[in-house]
Amino acid sequence: MLVKRLFITANLVVLMVPFLARGVQDSVQPSQRLDPTIQKIVSEISADRIAEIEKKLESFGTRNVLSDPTQPNHGIGAARQWILDQFKSYSPRLEVSFDTHVIPKRGRVWKDVEIRNVVAILPGKMKEATSRWIMIGGHYDSLNLRVPPEMRGDREKAAEIPAPGVSDDGSGTACAMECARVLSQYEFDATLVFVAFAGEEVGLVGSRALAKRLKEKNQTVQALLNNDIIGSEISGNGVIDNRRVLVFSEDPNDSPSRQIARYVKKIGERYYPEMNVDMIFRYDRFGRGGDHTPFNQEGFPAVRLTTPNENYANQHTPTDTFENTSPSFAAKVTRINAAAAASLAMAPKAPVTSRPAPLPGSDAAIAAAAAAELEEAAPRPPQTGPGLSRGKGYDAVLRWEYPDPEPDLAGFIVVVRSTMSPDWEREIWAGNVKEFTLKNTSIDQVVFGVKAVDKGGHESPVSPYVLVPRAR
Ligand SMILES: [Zn+2]
Repeated sequence: MLVKRLFITANLVVLMVPFLARGVQDSVQPSQRLDPTIQKIVSEISADRIAEIEKKLESFGTRNVLSDPTQPNHGIGAARQWILDQFKSYSPRLEVSFDTHVIPKRGRVWKDVEIRNVVAILPGKMKEATSRWIMIGGHYDSLNLRVPPEMRGDREKAAEIPAPGVSDDGSGTACAMECARVLSQYEFDATLVFVAFAGEEVGLVGSRALAKRLKEKNQTVQALLNNDIIGSEISGNGVIDNRRVLVFSEDPNDSPSRQIARYVKKIGERYYPEMNVDMIFRYDRFGRGGDHTPFNQEGFPAVRLTTPNENYANQHTPTDTFENTSPSFAAKVTRINAAAAASLAMAPKAPVTSRPAPLPGSDAAIAAAAAAELEEAAPRPPQTGPGLSRGKGYDAVLRWEYPDPEPDLAGFIVVVRSTMSPDWEREIWAGNVKEFTLKNTSIDQVVFGVKAVDKGGHESPVSPYVLVPRAR
């Protein structure tokens, strides 16, 4: 009797093994292991290379956008040509060009001037790669505001005085260039774009012109990681901290830029744990600016990486020199950039969790506003399309869309956090589905999001479910 029972049990187990195995494979989230390729990329970022770039940029004397562009080894023209040639030397797969604009006289721009951003594009291999741009940038122009009194009447001459600009922002330029050198040795699903911006110091004119141009061309940008003042970990008041970098992102709390900041923190710290990525929930520092902001203003997700320890005495002065910077700190920040950008470019695109909002004043907008006025407890008819609903009454039902799934897509992860928490707290593997129900879970008391993940464990940024402010 016992023998017979054992025999049956054993047979059942044998029969069930393939089921169990398949069941486990389909229902478990792809492991969040470290991708050896991304680890290799991070290890190839070189502090020595960054030091060489910073020293070379310093050697042009000034990179003031109003300096004489015709000099072979001095000024803005020589600097941008050198950056262009460097990008070209890294890989034949990089599409390198000047992005040229004429900026009319205004403010610090005391004459009409032609400026050139330097752009290097590494095309992705997926068919949607042209619409998935992941950008790493820094500005190569510099400024010295300490113009000697005798030169104040001669703006041509004043534009040629030494402006080494190594921390601000030779360091960010070196980050973009070093990422281009290393990442261009690999292939990615999405397109990576490395930019040295011009004209930051005269009113963000280069980034504004490029962001506007991209918007006009209907180019979608998934993220810009803008690096500005990452050259040193020593503050003017003596504070030293070489284990921390700040990431600024614009409000509101679930803006696409904020999701990128969370991504940089999560992936950056995963691949380079010796650095802490501190998210700052504001678009930038008080009264100061950077090239991510014009991108935000055109609707592109963009964040600013910067040192927590600035030295104001060196900014926009002749003492922002290589000697007063720390290439090893810039290299650490560059590794965070490289890990986050590589992971973003290997990951599938983000899911769609909301329909575009109806145009203000349209019938759809009026109907939505009217519906929002009703404090009805009764369940609404079943919803179609992406969005968040209560299901039959007390559940959380998440729906999303995912047109043209990538061949290596594994599925989706639902993320949850308290409305008061800065970052996602829980992850739930949903599988390869487009609807997920959490029983007896209030949609009003937490924040939900969903992200796509491929079979290698690379994850997209989170697409959140946001309560849109009620129309007035
Ligand atoms: Zn700057």
